[in-house]
Amino acid sequence: DFGTLADVIRVQAADKGPKPALIDAKRVISYAELDVLMDRIAAALQRDGVAKAEVAAVCATSSVEYGATFFGILRAGAIVAPLAPSSTPESLIVMLNDSGAKVFFLDKGVAEAMAGVADQITAKRVSLDGSDAGIPFEQWLAPEGAKPAPVEVEPDQGFNIIYSSGTTGTPKGIVQPHAMRWGQIRRGVYPDTAVSVISTPLYSNTTLVSFLPTLSNGGTAVLMPKFDAEQFLKLSEKHRATHAMLVPVQYRRLMERPDFDSYDLSSFVMKFSTSAPFPAEIKADVLKRWPGGLIEYYGMTEGGGSCGLQAHEFPDKLHTVGRPLPGHDIRLIDEDGKEVPQGEIGEVVGRSGAMMVGYHNQPGKTSEAEWWSPEGLRYIRTGDVGRFDEDGFLTLMDRKKDMIISGGFNIYPSDLEAEIVKHPAVLEAAVVGVASKAWGETPVAFVALKAGQSADPAEIKAFVNAKVGKTQRLADLVLIDSLPRSHIGKVLKRELRDDYKGEAL
Ligand code: ATP
Ligand code: MG
Repeated sequence: DFGTLADVIRVQAADKGPKPALIDAKRVISYAELDVLMDRIAAALQRDGVAKAEVAAVCATSSVEYGATFFGILRAGAIVAPLAPSSTPESLIVMLNDSGAKVFFLDKGVAEAMAGVADQITAKRVSLDGSDAGIPFEQWLAPEGAKPAPVEVEPDQGFNIIYSSGTTGTPKGIVQPHAMRWGQIRRGVYPDTAVSVISTPLYSNTTLVSFLPTLSNGGTAVLMPKFDAEQFLKLSEKHRATHAMLVPVQYRRLMERPDFDSYDLSSFVMKFSTSAPFPAEIKADVLKRWPGGLIEYYGMTEGGGSCGLQAHEFPDKLHTVGRPLPGHDIRLIDEDGKEVPQGEIGEVVGRSGAMMVGYHNQPGKTSEAEWWSPEGLRYIRTGDVGRFDEDGFLTLMDRKKDMIISGGFNIYPSDLEAEIVKHPAVLEAAVVGVASKAWGETPVAFVALKAGQSADPAEIKAFVNAKVGKTQRLADLVLIDSLPRSHIGKVLKRELRDDYKGEAL
């Protein structure tokens, strides 16, 4: 029996009534209120001509209104396109227009950022924060008591279009079907007693895999407009948080706070991480000092195969991203698209019952992302390179685009990064391949030091080169204040490569 998440909220509202569903710094909204608000949003969208499977876009800071709007759009049978406020105005307008949104929900900050391209916005604007960024939300809503016409959706209809992080290039609009979200929600890790602190922005798949299951299972979501380590700890204590999805760089910021142990985090049941490499030492530290379990997920917005590592159950597997989740199949392939033998390195391809429909308006890119097994099954190529150990746990090395081929040898930047961070003064490192006349490509390291530390780059380089194979040696090492990261905390190697003008060239 297939219902939508919007139907589920109706059921939760009938059951949970006054229980808080969404909390932000300004207000708390109960399940009963959320349900009514969703009706008013859905009815207003239908009034504005947004039909089944048409798109409404949202670009704003997380808030109760944003959360309710996400579900309201679904209740109208429409597709949500959540956009990243931190994108450039040029890429925002590209994504907005590519999505085909008829209604665009935004706030003051986004309207200001988009001032230069405002004349290219064709969608009707609604301001979630009541500012003059568009028709103020309260005024736009259908009247209290309004009911939208019920809309039936099919499992393979679009649920949302998520624009990929663009870590490796231009963002692609990934159309995820309802069935894919259902798979994530039914993983069973969010009970109705869950109080989830949502500290990553709502437009990201990383956030949605935590936000949506929290609400659809009847828990409470505490929304942070932006991540701040101290604020996160205070909110967790105040609301007796049980669940949180944090990206690795956030875990690091939390664990390195001298006052971390003074907060009462005993209410925590489970923490999650995804989206970027999560250093094993930090996982170990989290397990030691932060009550409750820790699960790391590996996957991509496109879907396909996902892995999970229950770090609390497998303390000797912290360098891996775990095993394929139930119903997910992962294979490793070589350059010719053939499966590699057990224990060898290959590109990760994955499949599950629910994967992306495709890239919005980009059929060519969609077929490039597919791999067909000899049995004729559709898998999604991840562009990540990894290896399975004898127990079936996956270790990720690097993205294929980041691998360095130097004098005919494959160099995995992750191997070098692991050596660099062993230097006592080093906080973090990123190794990229730069063009070299002699070798084709050669590895260059970008290194950020721990606060208050100083070190000679030549000394760190010698420290690393003494330990690695001759073909892996760093050609150059550059000290920088911090690694460039995307809004979801991924290291932007592309920028490091493009900006390098040093002596390795
Ligand atoms: P784009 O496709 O636009 O370059 P992106 O790949 O970063 O952006 P996402 O779908 O958000 O967009 O991220 C998926 C990628 O994130 C994976 O392919 C993998 O490289 C990385 N990733 C996800 N989870 C983990 C993890 N647990 N450990 C290491 N890397 C991870
Ligand atoms: Mg990707």
